[in-house]
Amino acid sequence: MSTQSLPLSPVTCHSSQLLRARYLLPRAGEPAIEDGALLIVGGRIAAVGRYSALQDRAVQVIDYGDAVILPPLVNAHCHLELTDFPQWATECGETIEPESFVGWIRRLIRVRRALGGDPVPASVTAGIRQLLTAGTGAVGDILTTPAALAPLLASPLYGRIFFETIGLDAERFVPSLAAALASARSLAYPLSGGVSPHSTYTVSSRHLKRAVSAGLPLAIHCAESPEESLFLREGRGPIAEELYAAADWPLPEHAPGLSPVAWLAAQGALSPQTLLIHGVQVDAADAAVIAASGATVVLCPRSNVRLGVGTAPIGLYQATGVHLALGTDSRASNDSLSLWEEIAFARSVYPELAPEELLAIATCGGARALGLGQEMGVLTAGSGANLQVLTATNLPPQTELAAWLCCADHQVVALWLAGIERLGQDVPC
Ligand SMILES: [Zn+2]
Repeated sequence: MSTQSLPLSPVTCHSSQLLRARYLLPRAGEPAIEDGALLIVGGRIAAVGRYSALQDRAVQVIDYGDAVILPPLVNAHCHLELTDFPQWATECGETIEPESFVGWIRRLIRVRRALGGDPVPASVTAGIRQLLTAGTGAVGDILTTPAALAPLLASPLYGRIFFETIGLDAERFVPSLAAALASARSLAYPLSGGVSPHSTYTVSSRHLKRAVSAGLPLAIHCAESPEESLFLREGRGPIAEELYAAADWPLPEHAPGLSPVAWLAAQGALSPQTLLIHGVQVDAADAAVIAASGATVVLCPRSNVRLGVGTAPIGLYQATGVHLALGTDSRASNDSLSLWEEIAFARSVYPELAPEELLAIATCGGARALGLGQEMGVLTAGSGANLQVLTATNLPPQTELAAWLCCADHQVVALWLAGIERLGQDVPC
């Protein structure tokens, strides 16, 4: 388990810096600027253009050479608390991968309940470091306890922290929701707060409506597995017969008879402030409902394949104009928290998404979903000085840059957040 402390060696010593590289990609989908440069003044981007046009405007020049400067990635859904889950599972003897979605949930609950001490803050710290070293500048994270908040507040990350609440039991839900709301309201930019009613099958209608009425941003696991759809439509299947029985939860008297997306919409839970996590079991009518609501679907392709729940219907999302973002989900269902690796995997399972679209989803799509606007996801005069620098043995021609970026065959050598370099590389200073 990691005991490394944050923040990571910042480099900041000049009021005006000019970063130079062979390519500068101001925004996914736009052409990269060759021999590009970016001027930082007072922690913000003052100008972007060719090096020759900006070279006289800075006190200090940092030349990254054969490299690409581009916006940081936005991991719009993860559970940093579970970063050390693989070690925990091994320590608990839970080494066999479950063969079903509900089996995976039950294993997760068993491991969490078996943990001794308070390993969560160290697990969050390890996750933060993994995000930063993978060029991630913002996160949409789910926390179950405010005790895990301190490492995030000490980190340079931007984003939104969603405090989880599970609500089938009124006695448990009301104080749980009150605590989640209080924690969420204590946060402010650049790490704002939200609430996460866990899922369509772990929160009752009454409780979800109460959470919605608070008016805070929401993140909800929805339409992930066929088992969830069966439970919502017919009130039966492994969620009823295994999960509810194991948790000793009472089954609802009547199944809603709706798809998970339709059920969320019926509770008033879909809005432009909502992150609908997964969105795999979605038909054309569901996609139209999501699009009309303005909610964002956060795609988690590696987790979906790992749990055997299917693949999100990208074609439907493109046809209806649903806002999209990308997340890794947790280390309980993924091999890493690297969004570059998630992008590379997404290329293989979402052939409908062009590399430029995928990069846009992983940068400005996530920034939009987390309420970060122009502060993250674009490199333009007036924006926050948030960027990453990638290198590789052989950079491609400019016309192949987007496809190359989606291959993950490159290395993050610098990550600047709020005008400060956070990876502690050998940057001349
Ligand atoms: Zn999740």
